[in-house]
Amino acid sequence: MDFYKNTLFNMQKAAKIMKLDKESLEVLSYPQKTLIVSVPVRLDDGTLKVFEGYRVQHSELRGPFKGGFRYLPDVSLDEIKALATEMSFKCAVVGIPYGGAKGGVKCNAKQMSEGELERLTRKYVQAVYQIVGPRHDIPAPDMYTNPQIMAWFMDEYSRLVNEYRPGVVTGKPIEVGGSLGRDTATAQGGVYVLEEYLNSLDKKARKKNYTVVVQGFGNAGMHVADILHGLGFTIVGVSDSKGGLYNPKGLDIQQVIKDKKAKGSVTECKEGKCVKPHEILEKPCDILVLAAMENQVTEANMKQIKAQIILELANGPTSFEADEYLAKKGVVIIPDILANAGGVTVSYFEWLQNQQAYYWPLEEIKMKLKRIMQESFARVHHFKEEHKCTMREAAYVSAFDRLEKAMKLRGSGANLRCKIYH
Ligand code: NAD
Repeated sequence: MDFYKNTLFNMQKAAKIMKLDKESLEVLSYPQKTLIVSVPVRLDDGTLKVFEGYRVQHSELRGPFKGGFRYLPDVSLDEIKALATEMSFKCAVVGIPYGGAKGGVKCNAKQMSEGELERLTRKYVQAVYQIVGPRHDIPAPDMYTNPQIMAWFMDEYSRLVNEYRPGVVTGKPIEVGGSLGRDTATAQGGVYVLEEYLNSLDKKARKKNYTVVVQGFGNAGMHVADILHGLGFTIVGVSDSKGGLYNPKGLDIQQVIKDKKAKGSVTECKEGKCVKPHEILEKPCDILVLAAMENQVTEANMKQIKAQIILELANGPTSFEADEYLAKKGVVIIPDILANAGGVTVSYFEWLQNQQAYYWPLEEIKMKLKRIMQESFARVHHFKEEHKCTMREAAYVSAFDRLEKAMKLRGSGANLRCKIYH
């Protein structure tokens, strides 16, 4: 099943569990606005290439649209719609005052020079700037977009509106209005939720030394491996797009990070045995952290998964079929809209700091992030107990609860009280 259908299925399941008003589900099943743009870029060899770009704004019921943008060769409109929808639910799960959006450009960022990436980013901003803005829609980094790209985005937008507007985008470098702790936020938020889940287990179920496999070794994956390793978890496997590295005795994560940074892949590290990218998911471990991309655990490999706990730092990494199968087997999945919400939470802190032009120390950011992740886990746990459902279903219920209340209070969407003119 494709990612967008998967997201809609997750929504429908939760709506049924909580007996959500049908019209509320109907309204939230469609993005408010979908923009497709062409992005012409002069390449280094002098030729002109036109890239296709997207910005999907799903819902602004709870605040301005919010969501990253990605540079990937096979990014599709449906994928961006799914991600935008998930953003509305994610912001509602953690109770931060944003709606959901997502963007992307179909391009192979890995093969583009720095100059080409800068020109692409500036052209993308020129194509979407009329629908984004600090009080309207605030983009952020996602796959193959980084703080430098956010700095170009902010600079181009500020130039177009003739005013310094750091709050138009989050995930910027510290020197141009970024926040301390944003680089590790997604991973740190996931770790706070994982710790809460492990603390909720009874003493017998809790183990001393959990083994962990991490799929994906970019912003989310590398930091989560580093943080968990620092907390005493044994990281037995990691992977990136080139392949996996496995050692049942545990990997020295600092060495893996060093080799990844110096040589471009975890497979260049001599710490363990190299395996094919997908084989890492099937290796024995207690906790599997999915931190690469969507649709990684599917009907094709769900029976080979050995982990008892899955932490979804990536968006939509588990297909609907695999989700149902693993839930029946008793595997606990800490769902994306809760597990990776630390990223958007610290983005929210960055945006607040930009509005105030006053910057907070790292300790304050960590403390505020921890409190939000702990409270969000507790709220999801409450709905899980109330409805006797999975954590994913409970997270969607938790989000729907806030979205529907906002819809009813604002009188928009399904309950729009407007005159009908004939
Ligand atoms: P990134 O570009 O920094 O890293 C992506 C990593 O995934 C790279 O190491 C890449 O080699 C690896 N990868 C790609 N295809 C793979 C495959 N088939 N098998 C194994 N590894 C593969 O991206 P990121 O920011 O770390 O994002 C990763 C996921 O987390 C995405 O789904 C993204 O939407 C989600 N996410 C990221 C953030 C954030 O703040 N960065 C926040 C929320 C969710």
